[in-house]
Amino acid sequence: MNEMVYVSERRLVGEVISLKGDAAVVEVFEDVSMLRAGDPVFPSGRPLSCRLGPGIIGGVFDGIQRPLTAIESAYGPFIPVGARAASLDEGRKWAFEPLAKPGDILTQGQFVGQVPETPALTHKIMLPIGVNGVLQSVAKPGEYSILDTIAVIRDDEGGVHNITMAQDFPTRRPRPVKRLRSADRPLVTGQRVIDTLFPIAKGGMAALPGGFGTGKTMTQHQIAKWSDADVIVYVGCGERGNEMTQVLEEFGGLTDPRTGSRLLDRTVLIANTSNMPVAAREASIFTGLAISEYYRDMGLHVAVMADSTSRWAEALRENSGRLEEMPAEEGFPAYLASRLASFYERAGYVDTLSGLEGSVTIIGAVSPQGADFSEPVTQNTKRFTRCFLALDRALAYSRHYPAIHWMKSYSEYSDTLDGWYIEHLGKRFPELRAAMMRTLNEESRLMDIVKLVGADVLPDGQKLTLEIARVIRLGFAQQNAYHAYDSYVPMEKQFRMMEVIFHLYDVCKPLLERVPLDKLVESGIFERVIGMKYEVGNGQSEKFDGYIEEIDTFAKKVYNGKL
Ligand code: ADP
Ligand code: MG
Repeated sequence: MNEMVYVSERRLVGEVISLKGDAAVVEVFEDVSMLRAGDPVFPSGRPLSCRLGPGIIGGVFDGIQRPLTAIESAYGPFIPVGARAASLDEGRKWAFEPLAKPGDILTQGQFVGQVPETPALTHKIMLPIGVNGVLQSVAKPGEYSILDTIAVIRDDEGGVHNITMAQDFPTRRPRPVKRLRSADRPLVTGQRVIDTLFPIAKGGMAALPGGFGTGKTMTQHQIAKWSDADVIVYVGCGERGNEMTQVLEEFGGLTDPRTGSRLLDRTVLIANTSNMPVAAREASIFTGLAISEYYRDMGLHVAVMADSTSRWAEALRENSGRLEEMPAEEGFPAYLASRLASFYERAGYVDTLSGLEGSVTIIGAVSPQGADFSEPVTQNTKRFTRCFLALDRALAYSRHYPAIHWMKSYSEYSDTLDGWYIEHLGKRFPELRAAMMRTLNEESRLMDIVKLVGADVLPDGQKLTLEIARVIRLGFAQQNAYHAYDSYVPMEKQFRMMEVIFHLYDVCKPLLERVPLDKLVESGIFERVIGMKYEVGNGQSEKFDGYIEEIDTFAKKVYNGKL
């Protein structure tokens, strides 16, 4: 089972997915239209594997890790059936520097050396899984290709292992770790509604469900661009190809706010777009995971985006039908849930084999038919993820982006992450977040009344709550991905914005004894606060003091009867 095989003389890559008696069913990851009865099948003797080593970052691969750039220069823009190219460039030389010396006792996953892979990332050369022993020799600092032997290990039984900078590892098998830790720090995405209201932990798993056009891809792109992960693995699974092009083009031009180097220098793209073989969709997801875990083991924080897991589930359904398996809910196979689990389970914050901390965070887009969240893929995804960012069609139609709905979304990470937020931003942070959620909840309750009998019946105190909720929605939750200041907002700024909004709330409450709410609204102070997101650039936090002063001056005017 799961052995990789080559089918026909053209050697199409396939995987054994079922064995019945002496017959094997092979799933072929390429177009099978010209196969015929009697074509030979060649065993490879090993499971479907990924090639891991320097040269992955910045690359674009298909679902079975063929390098699309190299394929294009060899065959042109379309991938012919049976096209072959080594996953990683075997001619390129890397500046190797040893990190261990002869005589050292090393175990699997420990570092032998390192190479600068991109300006943003140092690639650690690790002992392959299963190799332990004494380092006999290690290469001197210098230029080597991934095929050169850079170290020799002698194991307990006297076996000798030649170590190169590239290694193969089964795509479906999770890489071992020393220990799983609790996920207690956030993946900061720079998106306010996520970081403040529904945070994702580093090593956590999040679902991003939403109907067509609600902003799944855009949100994933935003997280890929701005989150504080060291490596981004972006899996485009069954979606449009131009979205991958966009990642390539944009990320090449953008700089990482933390390292100052190109975003592409920390990104890996796995493309199995809608026009590529459906069979390779699952492979693309697991190739993404295998690469992520490999970089995690270097002591890095990796975020994997999968857009969209629904297309993978559809591929499972298609295959299951062909295999004449008993269908379960809506035609999906009975193992849909366990397959989704085997994907999300690979997220985690760990102590790596080399003794460092690393994490894999998984963010999966789900595209339910007709935006119906009760369908099996969304429901099963909900069971395994702890953060649910529900994209709402009505919000998207009214151009409230990101359309993450505050009443339908949740994050079970908030409590475990509070320690981090308190340490970095102070005790007020969780208090203000709670106040924000309370205000939005109150708004939704009041809107039910307003819909029945109109807003006029509400006392001014409650109208003020509605007004502040509006400020929170427009001034805070809504965030424009295309605006220079607003596309990415650091944590400190998110916190200061909350402070200003709730300062306004606190100041206005007692004012209502002097003037009606309408007068306060007419003054334009609420619009001023809504507009602050476009006025204050990142790193200009002192400007928020100006807003606090302005609100205080406004209050004085009201007290002095000068409004
Ligand atoms: P989906 O992947 O869910 O089908 P997209 O991510 O392609 O949807 O989003 C559709 C459109 O919505 C985008 O082209 C963009 O115009 C708009 N959009 C989505 N999110 C944002 C955002 N955060 N800021 C601005 N516009 C957005
Ligand atoms: Mg999309």
